Amino acid sequence: MQLSTNISLKAYHSFSSEEKAHYFTSIKSNDDIVEISNWCKDNHLPLLVIGAGSNILFTKDFNGLVAKMELMGIKKISESASEVVLQVGAGENWHHFVSYCVQKGWGGIENLSLIPGTVGASPIQNIGAYGVEVQECIESIYVYDTIQNEWLTLKNAHCAFGYRTSVFKQSPNRYIIAQVNFVLQKQPQLKTDYGVIREVLHDKGIKNPSLENIANAIVQIRTQKLPDPKLLGNAGSFFKNPTLPIEQYEQLKAQFPNMMAYPISDNAYKIAAGWLIEAAGWKGVRKGNVGCYEKQALVIVSYGIESGKEVFDFSEEIIRSVKEKFNIVLEREVNIV
Ligand SMILES: Cc1cc2nc3c(=O)[nH]c(=O)nc-3n(C[C@H](O)[C@H](O)[C@H](O)COP(=O)(O)OP(=O)(O)OC[C@H]3O[C@@H](n4cnc5c(N)ncnc54)[C@H](O)[C@@H]3O)c2cc1C
Repeated sequence: MQLSTNISLKAYHSFSSEEKAHYFTSIKSNDDIVEISNWCKDNHLPLLVIGAGSNILFTKDFNGLVAKMELMGIKKISESASEVVLQVGAGENWHHFVSYCVQKGWGGIENLSLIPGTVGASPIQNIGAYGVEVQECIESIYVYDTIQNEWLTLKNAHCAFGYRTSVFKQSPNRYIIAQVNFVLQKQPQLKTDYGVIREVLHDKGIKNPSLENIANAIVQIRTQKLPDPKLLGNAGSFFKNPTLPIEQYEQLKAQFPNMMAYPISDNAYKIAAGWLIEAAGWKGVRKGNVGCYEKQALVIVSYGIESGKEVFDFSEEIIRSVKEKFNIVLEREVNIV
């Protein structure tokens, strides 16, 4: 294990603030995982494994070891007439992996094109976009349990996947994800239910879309709608869409007929957090070096922050004002460190 000390984290996360890690290393083998876990225990220091840092907000220096996941490799484990199972290293770039599958004609994750980050982080918050969640294509995950000091293969059913959550998100820093096994379809059912996907395909005159057509449409939509973290620091959606019981939803809907929401069961609705934030007057608002993105109110952007604390404080103001107007408490999706 090669340790560096007092390292700036600026280049390792998408908000690009200036916090430091007391110790820093990278993970290049499964043995490295065991070694860093033991080292942190022996030295009574916290461990934080990161991928590309596109869902993290550092609000202070990290007085422990930050380990960047760099386990690579895509390996075919099995194949049948209808499916292929791939084992993928946690450090692989997510979008490269999606493009690799699209190119091979293996479907299931094409709607998740262009989501920043690594393969290993994809199960953590069960990444999702345009009607698809990654859990739909995960067969199992090979992890190191830093509490029991053992390697485990967690089958999909044991990962407690839900909307932007999983067993990994619920027990932060307990499991280190080393490899993810994906099941992909050779004759995939394409998901074009989202109106915006249909619109793009229609504009291009595509009637029978291929995997590649879908992936390209998603890339086009996302590029137009979301800020590029290289130009404007951000971590995508900052908040989760809240769930409300039907009674509360109906009361609010009577008061705010334009409120965007959809049913998730017979007695609950999911409310678009972006709509709430916009209706509370935040869209496009800038305070100092932080702002609410002008094209999508769910995204908080940095105009050159020094500390992630500036973003955190801004998000507190949004939470307070949404609570005052709608009596709904927004929950952050981004991991606060
Ligand atoms: C512009 C933009 C758009 C986005 N759009 C979406 C979207 O559409 N849908 C969506 O779901 N998300 C979206 N995100 C959020 C982000 O891309 C995902 O959460 C992604 O999976 C994060 O990957 P990462 O490698 O950057 O993880 P990081 O930010 O490095 O880490 C995220 C969390 O996972 C932990 N972690 C990372 N790797 C491991 C590992 N191998 N083992 C154990 N723990 C680990 C970290 O400790 C941290 O708690 C977006 C972000 C941006 C910047």
